[in-house]
Amino acid sequence: MGPPTEPIDLTYLIEWLGPAHPNNYLPGRDWPAVDRIVNHHSYGSWDSVIATFKSPRSQVSAHLLIGRSGRIGQIVDFGDTAFAGEGNGSVPPRDPNFNERGIHIEWEWWPGLDPAFTGEQYAAGAWLHDYLLRNYPAIGVLVSGVTVLPHNWNVPTACPGALDLNRIVKEARYMDRTVIVSQAPNSQVLAQGEVRFLLCTWRWPDGRTREIGVKVVGRGQPGTDYVPVYPPVDPDSDPTIDLGAEPAHFLVTTAG
Ligand SMILES: [Zn+2]
Repeated sequence: MGPPTEPIDLTYLIEWLGPAHPNNYLPGRDWPAVDRIVNHHSYGSWDSVIATFKSPRSQVSAHLLIGRSGRIGQIVDFGDTAFAGEGNGSVPPRDPNFNERGIHIEWEWWPGLDPAFTGEQYAAGAWLHDYLLRNYPAIGVLVSGVTVLPHNWNVPTACPGALDLNRIVKEARYMDRTVIVSQAPNSQVLAQGEVRFLLCTWRWPDGRTREIGVKVVGRGQPGTDYVPVYPPVDPDSDPTIDLGAEPAHFLVTTAG
C-alpha cells in the first residue's frame, strides 16, 4: 500500500456562506495562479462581516472569515477576485494585482479584545494556510512577508492589527513539512512536481504526539534520490518524525 495521496488532517471544515453581493467581487481572476495568502482583521463580529460582504453598498469582500471560536466560513469562491486589498486611492498600491493574485482571509476582530486573536483562531488559521498551500502550488512555500502577507504590505492601513503572521506560518509549517528521507529498499517513484502526503507521527520534546499528513514534493534534479526539507529542521524546538511503515525513499523522475 502506497502513501495516502490526500491530506490526512482534516480537522476543520470550511462552511460555504456566500456568495457575496455581486457589487463586492469580480468573477474570475485576471492572474494566472493564486500565489499569495493575504490576512486582514475584520473590525466587526462574524455576523456583521457576512452582512457587509452581502450588502450592495459596501464594495468590499474577502474569500474567508476565521471566527474567534476557530470557525471558518467562505463567502467568495476561490476562483473569483475579492475586493480586499486596496486602500482609499490616496496612495498607489505596492502591487496593483494584490486582489487578483491572492486569497484573502478576514480574522474576526474588533477594538478592545484581549487577546486580540484567540488560540483557536491561530490554530484554524494555520490549518487554513496549509490547506491553501496544498491546493495552490504556485504559493510554493509559506513565508511571512513573501507569500503570507498582511493587508498593510500593499497600502497604508491598520489592517491586520496585532495579527502575528510569523505564528501562523510557524504553526502551519508543522503541517507543511517536507522531510528528508534516508535511502531504504522500500522506495517509491515520485514524479517531478508530484505531491504526496505521508501519514506520520510528530513527537514534540514535551511528549505530545499528533498524527499528521506530511508533504513530500517531487522537486530537484530528476534522478536524484531525495526530497527537500522546508524549512530547515531545528532539533531543539521542532518535533521529530516517525514515518512508521511508510516507504522512506522517494526517487524523483522526469515522468508526469
Ligand atoms: Zn484588510
